[in-house]
Amino acid sequence: MSPDSTREIPIPTVQTAALIQNPGPSATVVVREDVPVATPGQDEILVKLEYSGVCGSEIRALNGWGAYNSIVGHEGVGTVVRAGGGNTASALLGRRVGVKWLYSACDDNRETPPCSACRRGFANNCARQVNTGRHVPGTLQQYAVADARFVTTDIPPALPGEVVAPLLCAGLTMMGALAKVDAHVASLPPIEDEDIWVVVSGAGGGLGHLGVQLASVDRAGRYKVIAIDRGEAKRTLSMASGAHYFVDYDQDDDAMEQQIKHFTGGEGAHAVLVVSGAPAAFRTAPRLVRNMGVLATVGLPASDFLLPVSATLCSARSLTVTGVAVGTEKQMAQLLAMAAAGKVTPSVEVRPLADVADVIEQLRKGSITGRIVVKIPE
Ligand SMILES: [Zn+2]
Ligand SMILES: [Zn+2]
Repeated sequence: MSPDSTREIPIPTVQTAALIQNPGPSATVVVREDVPVATPGQDEILVKLEYSGVCGSEIRALNGWGAYNSIVGHEGVGTVVRAGGGNTASALLGRRVGVKWLYSACDDNRETPPCSACRRGFANNCARQVNTGRHVPGTLQQYAVADARFVTTDIPPALPGEVVAPLLCAGLTMMGALAKVDAHVASLPPIEDEDIWVVVSGAGGGLGHLGVQLASVDRAGRYKVIAIDRGEAKRTLSMASGAHYFVDYDQDDDAMEQQIKHFTGGEGAHAVLVVSGAPAAFRTAPRLVRNMGVLATVGLPASDFLLPVSATLCSARSLTVTGVAVGTEKQMAQLLAMAAAGKVTPSVEVRPLADVADVIEQLRKGSITGRIVVKIPE
């Protein structure tokens, strides 16, 4: 068989995959070589993965903070090697695609009409969505089944797979978050020559550094970013990503509030993006935002953790609190174009799939700067 005959690549019956076992305090991550390869059904494709990013949200699966599939991962890039039924699926055979958190959303063919979020173009907010690594196996395996109608296609050929992977969740989520900041800022009557201050809490991580880049590089200097994180490596990445100031959170809340107010003319930031999943980041955030400002929650702490913001304070200071769940496919296309143009550059470290247990443990400790992407064995 010729190597470029993509339609007839032999597909094994078993494969290598990383599995989370015993979610909770004694969880382990094991790499096994005897995991069955699934068969794609109607509108589905089988993707031979090359790279998968490892997202901070995977610690939810490890800690047992919800019902996840034992195979997590939702930043996969690879090639379609088998198509199930349907024209959309077969048209993708041989193509390079991105497998994201949104596995599928409302189906046009259902008897019930699509939900209002889908009808508005926000399938990422669909009430009936199915998620990769949660309801179906994720991308920490060699062969993943994906829904052909929801994968990312048209990935610029010049972008290497390890660069594409972190854009599929980390980058897309920050596109979604900044679109909300943009909408909020646009709702405020403008003041001449006003700098818009954006705090990114958790700025040196996989999502955070891309958020700093998108806010500072892509908005014509209109936004000024204050990066919050801890340690020299994260400071360096935050500043290289375009932040104006870096604030180390290794200090008490009063001191941090004072510092942010000092940088922002005494009032606090117009927007605070809590990208970190650490409870302390949520606790501090309301103190860092100015009146009429917006707090955007991005990070995912334990499910029983409540936002520590008083209702009275929210009313009196006219705060807006908004959640962010990844972004739209349109934002994905915009982001890929920006990456291809060199405007967004994920900071990536590639590790073998065999290291994934260590990578997830490092995420749990918050000690990863930028994004770690694992190379899936061939
Ligand atoms: Zn993610
Ligand atoms: Zn929907």
